[in-house]
Amino acid sequence: MLLKKLSLFNLKSINILVFTSLAAWAIFAYVTTTQIIKSQKSYASAINITGKQRMLSQKIALIAKRYYETRNKQLKNHLLSLYTQMKEDHKRITTQYINSSATESIYYKEPSQLNKKVLYYLNNVAKFIEEEQPLSLKKIETLSFSLLPELNDAVNIFEHESDLKIKLLIERELFILIGMLITLFVEAVFIVTPAIRRATSHTNELNQLVKDRTLELEELSITDQLTKLYNRRKIDETLAHEIERAERGNSSFSLIIVDIDHFKNINDTYGHQTGDQILQDISKILTSNVRKIDTLGRWGGEEFLIINTESSPSKVMKFAEKIRRAVEAHNFNIATLTTCSIGIAHYVANDTESSIIARADSALYAAKNAGRNCVKETAI
Ligand code: GH3
Ligand code: MG
Ligand code: MG
Repeated sequence: MLLKKLSLFNLKSINILVFTSLAAWAIFAYVTTTQIIKSQKSYASAINITGKQRMLSQKIALIAKRYYETRNKQLKNHLLSLYTQMKEDHKRITTQYINSSATESIYYKEPSQLNKKVLYYLNNVAKFIEEEQPLSLKKIETLSFSLLPELNDAVNIFEHESDLKIKLLIERELFILIGMLITLFVEAVFIVTPAIRRATSHTNELNQLVKDRTLELEELSITDQLTKLYNRRKIDETLAHEIERAERGNSSFSLIIVDIDHFKNINDTYGHQTGDQILQDISKILTSNVRKIDTLGRWGGEEFLIINTESSPSKVMKFAEKIRRAVEAHNFNIATLTTCSIGIAHYVANDTESSIIARADSALYAAKNAGRNCVKETAI
């Protein structure tokens, strides 16, 4: 259900969703890695300081010995400064960098008790500086040796802790990378792809709709609304086309004009609506009589036009007679007999649209003059 809802997201919301999820991962990556990098940096300085402690413990013992032998004031000052450095560094280590069980263990627990040992060593150094007794010097020398492996261990532990942090950092980075890829994959499969599919099918639907509508409009532009036959525009077009074909010698054709007799009277007697109904009925009669290769349309008012192709003049004449009889025989449900007159013109060389129409018109005029309800053709 949720996925279905998500797939309905439009492409703009998807952009926001993908951007937000990646931004969330980026923030998470920044926060976690910054923390790890910070603690890793702190281990790096702890390694420095403990390494320095190692060096200081040795140097103090050496300088103390030299001072004792030479009583050189400068050496004593140097010794004092080394002592202060070692004391301060030890304070820094114990107050800032002991925050894991391993470092706590080496500094405060048996058997190492490094804190106690360093302090004891520093006490002895202080005592020597103050009293300058050989006993204190001896103790400094002995203690400096025993401190060395312990301080070494402390350096190793800080290094190990630092390595662990680096390992953790790599793991976190991998986790974030995989998380990002999974997020993108899930979004791509369940949100982006369905949305694109929907958008594509929507576009296809719209394209189809536009095609259908265009076709409908094209149909409409060539259709007479009352009779649903072709309109004058389409007949004009077909006529031009047939003349072209005939000029190339490919075919011949005849033009048939069907005109309802005394239609004005029918309208006047039975009303315009009945007149419309008769126009529609005659359209059906004509439609059921023409062949597929013929073109039938409403020429205007109560006149119809048929372009009859691939027929001899005698066959066209028979066809027109058939239509005339069909109209005459049809029951239009009015008291007056409804008939039609038909004029025919056969294509002759150099005919134009207007010349052949004019001849069909004059044939129709002849039919009307001959008393209507008959077919006339112009001489070929
Ligand atoms: P004729 O036998 O000489 O052809 O006489 P007619 O009355 O049929 O010819 P005329 O040209 O005098 O009149 C044609 C009539 O057709 C006039 C007009 O009102 C009617 N008419 C034209 N279009 C329509 C239409 O769409 N519906 C209806 N009901 N009548 C129409
Ligand atoms: Mg007429
Ligand atoms: Mg008429």
